[in-house]
Amino acid sequence: MSTEVRVRIAPSPTGNLHLGTARTALYNYLYAKRHNGKFIFRLEDTDNERSDEKYTKDIIDGLKWLGLTWDEGCDIGGPYPPYRQTEKIDHYERIADKLLQNGFAYLCYASTEELAALKEEQRVSGLPSRYDNRGREVSIEQREKYQAEGRVPSFRFRVEEPQDIHWDDEIKGPITVNSADLGGDMVIIKSNGVATYNFAVVVDDIDMQMTNVLRGEDHIHNTAKQLLLFEALNCKPPHFGHTGLIFDSNDRKLSKREHGELVHIDYYKTQGYMPEAIVNYLIKTSWTPPDDTMEKFTLEEACQMFDIKRVSKTHARFDMDKLNWYNSHYLRSLPLSTVTERARPYLTDFDLSEYSHDELEKLVDTLRGSLTKLSEIKAAGSFFFGKTVEVSDEMKSTVLSSSEAKKVLTETLSSISKMPFDDPAGVKQIVDSMGKELGIKGKNLYWPLRAALAGSTQGPDLGSMISVLGPTKVQARLEAALKNGGNGHV
Ligand code: GLU
Repeated sequence: MSTEVRVRIAPSPTGNLHLGTARTALYNYLYAKRHNGKFIFRLEDTDNERSDEKYTKDIIDGLKWLGLTWDEGCDIGGPYPPYRQTEKIDHYERIADKLLQNGFAYLCYASTEELAALKEEQRVSGLPSRYDNRGREVSIEQREKYQAEGRVPSFRFRVEEPQDIHWDDEIKGPITVNSADLGGDMVIIKSNGVATYNFAVVVDDIDMQMTNVLRGEDHIHNTAKQLLLFEALNCKPPHFGHTGLIFDSNDRKLSKREHGELVHIDYYKTQGYMPEAIVNYLIKTSWTPPDDTMEKFTLEEACQMFDIKRVSKTHARFDMDKLNWYNSHYLRSLPLSTVTERARPYLTDFDLSEYSHDELEKLVDTLRGSLTKLSEIKAAGSFFFGKTVEVSDEMKSTVLSSSEAKKVLTETLSSISKMPFDDPAGVKQIVDSMGKELGIKGKNLYWPLRAALAGSTQGPDLGSMISVLGPTKVQARLEAALKNGGNGHV
């Protein structure tokens, strides 16, 4: 018998890729890599009404963006066989038939109205909502009557009560759930012929020989139900491990309803987060590396270090500041060519042909230290584009109108030919020694230059800024500032 580790991510395409699903995918991926096993993608698309191909695409794109690749499974147009539950509808029904034949399941003719009335009765009496197993005892005559009425049955699996269902959870340790808390006999095939989640998952996990299932703790009751199904089907269940969910600082579960787009990977992708930062952050939210002071690591490094026993048993806390900290770190430390390529889509409003490939890298390098996310580069870097720059009237009167400011601008203008534009530190030195000669320093020296060159007194290092702008733009902007107090649009 094969002992190869086989794990999966099994998203339902009923929404965009959620941070929690991405974290589950990461842990499964790390587990597979650490054990030289296989990581499999399966699409759980049996919910016809809520499933949508646009979500499938978002999920697949999001996982790939994070750097996750799978060894088998669904991939739009890709090389893998599509593991989609909707392609196995008949297979689930055949397995359900077996359960019917050996008495583990029965046909239930309860109508939607009857079930709703039962639920309402339980609500009024303050009882937990559950199926009362009424379908177990239907006489042959009654069944014929239902059939004559045109009722289409569902398949229900008998959940014998009470019984303790135990497993040794790979993350949380021993867990026991009593079958009396599982809501009564469970539907495994709905009256429309489609398998329910709990049934299809078990059939798939058996078919695909899953050895381990790592998922969120919101599935703990499902695991108990699934263990009963594995037993009835006479198959060895995988090892289960449940992670705590991700909560916000007010102890609310991260959800689309409460937190909107912030819960979706696509939001971070669009905002210019580095996938390396999201990966590092998500892994770290509830896993501690062997060296517990270690904060920064790549996906590959995590694959080497991953140990399921070091996954936290409790909730993770979503912390945007920490995520931003990671992102700033990766923006600064990833190869400049990577960050520049990723910056391009945020700079499409500008004429990028003003800069050569190398100059654009220098521009990005000048700005990346000040950014939290790449989308900010548009506002932070707009002044680099165009011959001249917009300077506000307030800036003109407060920073550019003094005779000292004019001296600084005039002197800089005549120093342009001496400036080593490929050496930001050298440029800065020239500005400083010019200031010394004029007896002007600090903000009286730097602000007029910043205002004239960038339209703002804030911004990246002055030497780098001048160096990136280059002699032509620097000259045009200084001249414009001297001529009309800053605004180049004469
Ligand atoms: N389709 C389920 C979900 O998206 C997967 C649960 C499982 O891993 O079994 O939550």
